Amino acid sequence: MSLSLTLVATLLLAPLLLLHPTIRLLRYHLLKKETAMLDWALMGKAREEKNKIPGTVVICGGSLAGLLAARVCHDHFERVVIVEPEAWLSTDDGTQVESWKQKNKRARVAQYTSLHGNLAPITDGLLRLFPDLEKECHRSEIRFMPADFKLTFGGHKFLVPHDEFGASFPRTIRAGRQGTETLIRRLTLNTKEYPNISQIPGIVIGVQVDSKNPKFLESVQVQTEAGLKEIKASLVIDCTGPARAGQEWIRSAGFTVTPKALDKLTVSYDPRVRYSSFIFRMPPEVSDKVPEYGNELATGGLFVYKGDPSITQTYCGVMKLESDFVSVVCGAWGPAELPDSAEGIRDYLKSLKFSTPIPEWIWKFTDLSSSYWTHFELASDLPANWIALGDSVSRVNPVFGQGGTKAMMGAVSLNTVLQELHTSKKIPEDFSQRFFNIQAGKLKPLWAGNKMADYSYKTTTPEQGETLETGAYLRWYTHKLETLAAKAGFSNFSCHYPGSSS
Ligand SMILES: Cc1cc2nc3c(=O)[nH]c(=O)nc-3n(C[C@H](O)[C@H](O)[C@H](O)COP(=O)(O)OP(=O)(O)OC[C@H]3O[C@@H](n4cnc5c(N)ncnc54)[C@H](O)[C@@H]3O)c2cc1C
Repeated sequence: MSLSLTLVATLLLAPLLLLHPTIRLLRYHLLKKETAMLDWALMGKAREEKNKIPGTVVICGGSLAGLLAARVCHDHFERVVIVEPEAWLSTDDGTQVESWKQKNKRARVAQYTSLHGNLAPITDGLLRLFPDLEKECHRSEIRFMPADFKLTFGGHKFLVPHDEFGASFPRTIRAGRQGTETLIRRLTLNTKEYPNISQIPGIVIGVQVDSKNPKFLESVQVQTEAGLKEIKASLVIDCTGPARAGQEWIRSAGFTVTPKALDKLTVSYDPRVRYSSFIFRMPPEVSDKVPEYGNELATGGLFVYKGDPSITQTYCGVMKLESDFVSVVCGAWGPAELPDSAEGIRDYLKSLKFSTPIPEWIWKFTDLSSSYWTHFELASDLPANWIALGDSVSRVNPVFGQGGTKAMMGAVSLNTVLQELHTSKKIPEDFSQRFFNIQAGKLKPLWAGNKMADYSYKTTTPEQGETLETGAYLRWYTHKLETLAAKAGFSNFSCHYPGSSS
């Protein structure tokens, strides 16, 4: 009897035991492919100077993606040149320690004074790329805080296990777009730490093919104030954001014309999101009168609300920025009456017990356009030494605050390929293909997660060949998770921890 029981138990357990290593392997594979968790250890690991790849990396665009790419390339290449059209970004004003005192404002980045959430992965990456990050944030009055944005999704306030994680709770930097971008620029263009990086004002207008090896690019053409300039390049990186200018340069140089033209590899859908964004100053004499403000900040963010899509199309959020600034955003999927004044916000955010600290404010009304993704990984004839990252590859719904993380995923992918080549001083012919394959794996969860959420709104225009029913099961499952997240024992970690999507 006991023998047969043992036999039955063995027969039942054996498949489970056999499955265990398979599940572990699958988990490893997915972590490697879709997140940055296994890539972090290699970030910031520099080659010895004598082993660096000869020549210059030309980075086209000096915003989030361009600056992160430059910092990664400093570890691997002899020289890095960033070309950025907004000339003031190459002056001291572009790297102000107190960013809110900048005399200039970005002309090509409309969201410069808008709300900006930094999810944990961007801070994870920055900590590895810039060992002095905490000290430098302190100088710029940017606080490190728990990466808990106080999410209320689908009408359910997520419980977050602060007690369970204690000091190991993931942290992130709390700064607006202006503060975040200026900090990253100040750190990257620090010539003492990164002497091989420089930035010049200019507009990239094209690329030249290498006449000796037509699979490669030889140089980049830059329009500067002094005239046309040609920069020889070992590697060209397109970080021109939504302008996606690099696609035109390589097309004009004879790449990606046939059979898979890049426009055929671009998918897009339109969540028709719009929002008003306001920035307030919240000096201590005002914030001290609102105890909830201090209490909430002690454990992270202030408030992000996205209702159940079957009931409401609206969302709103309040976020702490650098210094004593606070940002409020009110928005909606589809048409909606949005506030255009401070009084309007109070009406709009009836549920939010907010005081009236409005000594100065800036307001901005933004009508956001579509989400897109060009699948470069499927292109068959890209130049071997040309890559693209950030919004020049894909733009996702800004409501979920993943643009910076997406740029960081690009920088991580670039670093991973360059680390794989650490014994070589040459860019191989499959470089661009390898990079785009790795990057696509890490973009996929961000893209799919956003789309799944956006498709719950009937005002969204879906991708060609899809309907708003696409992803219905996953949406149902997420809705159930959101309900559970409001109950003890569940956390919102998956919403913002390494490379994962919402
Ligand atoms: C309203 C709004 C709110 C957002 N909120 C968040 C948020 O809360 N959190 C978050 O993480 N993300 C957010 N995002 C997304 C985030 O801003 C973008 O993902 C991010 O800016 C992408 O960085 P990038 O460097 O790829 O492109 P960009 O920041 O767009 O920069 C492109 C750069 O290329 C330069 N350039 C253009 N053409 C040329 C050329 N020919 N030659 C050389 N340079 C050129 C431009 O001057 C610019 O500096 C938001 C976006 C919007 C629109």
